[in-house]
Amino acid sequence: MTDKFDVIVIGSGPAGYVAAIRAAQLGLNTACIEKWKDKEGKGVNGGTCLQVGCIPSKALLDTSYKYHEAKESLGSHGIGIKNIDINVPDMIARKDKVVKQMCGGIAGLFTANKVTSLYGTGKLLAGRKVQFVDHKGEEKILEAENVILASGSTPVNIPVAPIDGDVIVDSTGALEFHEIPERLGVIGAGVIGLELGSVWGRLGSKVVCLEAMDSFLAMMDQTIAKESKKILGKQGLDIRLSCRVTGSEVVEKKGKKEVVVTYTDQDGKEGKETFDKLIVCVGRRPFTDGLLAEDSGVKLDERGSIYVNDLCSTSAPGVWAIGDVVRGPMLAHKGSEEGVMVAERIAGQKPVVNYDIIPNVIYTHPEIAAVGKTEEQLKADGEEYNVGTFPFLAIGRAVAADEAEGMVKMIADAKTDRILGCHIVGPSAADLVQQVAIAMEFGSTAEDIGMTVFGHPTFSEAVKEAALAVGGHAIHMPNRKKRR
Ligand code: FAD
Ligand code: AMP
Repeated sequence: MTDKFDVIVIGSGPAGYVAAIRAAQLGLNTACIEKWKDKEGKGVNGGTCLQVGCIPSKALLDTSYKYHEAKESLGSHGIGIKNIDINVPDMIARKDKVVKQMCGGIAGLFTANKVTSLYGTGKLLAGRKVQFVDHKGEEKILEAENVILASGSTPVNIPVAPIDGDVIVDSTGALEFHEIPERLGVIGAGVIGLELGSVWGRLGSKVVCLEAMDSFLAMMDQTIAKESKKILGKQGLDIRLSCRVTGSEVVEKKGKKEVVVTYTDQDGKEGKETFDKLIVCVGRRPFTDGLLAEDSGVKLDERGSIYVNDLCSTSAPGVWAIGDVVRGPMLAHKGSEEGVMVAERIAGQKPVVNYDIIPNVIYTHPEIAAVGKTEEQLKADGEEYNVGTFPFLAIGRAVAADEAEGMVKMIADAKTDRILGCHIVGPSAADLVQQVAIAMEFGSTAEDIGMTVFGHPTFSEAVKEAALAVGGHAIHMPNRKKRR
């Protein structure tokens, strides 16, 4: 193996593996170092996203939804199913199979693109040298013209609920329960807490989400957040805001472990809840443990992220950083776009990432999805805007499918009509918001979407109608504003 590369990538999550593939496509001699081992102890690519993040959580969300639908929702279609059963070990095994298949896909792409895949740990030394230690402990010093750091993130731990991997788990542990907990506590009603709470809630757990903040999904548009809370509440998720967890104690009762959680509520009163399992989902932190030698020249910011500029250059020449380990939303696709940008910049091209148009999805049912600015942000910025909303209840396809909860909210600039944001809770929200993201990327106005022919009947007609509603001329709903 040669020890000199054009590009060395450390970390093979969605930021790192995409950067490595794109760099190799551009003719750069590229290596990608990854320290993760699979359940059998073999080196494996894919990072958090493939191993314990996006993919396994969606696999469990899909299984649990199918079960829930068969049990609770199909009756309204006249379909009666008797003796519905869920086999949890089978569900987990299917999830593992999905993960394995996707990881195999990356290995195949590395081979096809001639990326050198190295399993072990990488550490950045001074002068774009990388110390590589493989899983057998053998060490080698590698060199590169450019090094891309893509070491990702890891769950935040809080001392009031220390992870024991048994009763108190983080998001990774919550993907591996062997049985359905009767009483499930979730600390943090954020994206991951809601998704994992939904998985086990659909299978029968009584779920309580304890959230310290007084507003639900504070970073989302609050019209959509409020609507989402109502819908999720009806599904049985007990979301308690202004409840800060202050302690937890694992106790044994009748030979079974349980956890007693204490919290303070909005009036400062202490509350107590007992759970069979507790998932701690209070956010993620950038992961740089063991990544940087003292003289690497790479600086961290005050939050522990690797400091980078808009183009993902670090403070060390020829060293770049991308994905969860740098500023910005911790989303797989954000890191992948940064990976492509950096690889192309190394190859002499001049792309940029449009940080203003990054879709964000919560995979509850229905999905909650957003792109661009929220109404609250625009208000705070003193921008003038128009809003159009449209409920799925007035969309034929949604009613026919019995998926008519939720709405689309479109926000456009008051003067230019350019779309500034779109926020959706409803069926296929993730895919619908993507349509608006494309429109925004092309500088579209709300009127442009309103003038586009949409197929009928589709869920996406709600996007067209919300765009029409911005100008006060939605067709399938009375308009508050006058027709233009
Ligand atoms: P990671 O995926 O964390 O990968 C970093 C890799 O670097 C890891 O494999 C690690 O082993 C390796 N590494 C670190 N240090 C070293 C070293 N010194 N040497 C060698 N290797 C090293 N995002 C979405 O966009 N959509 C979702 O639906 C979604 N769902 C999620 C669900 C859950 C339960 C969780 C936990 C996360 C979810 N995310 C989701 C977030 C998403 O997983 C992350 O944003 C994404 O994985 C970040 O990619 P990354 O490449 O920056 O880092
Ligand atoms: P996210 O950043 O989307 O993963 O969400 C994490 C959530 O956890 C945030 O909404 C935090 O307010 C919440 N959180 C953090 N610490 C606590 C705590 N001790 N008790 C309850 N909620 C918390």
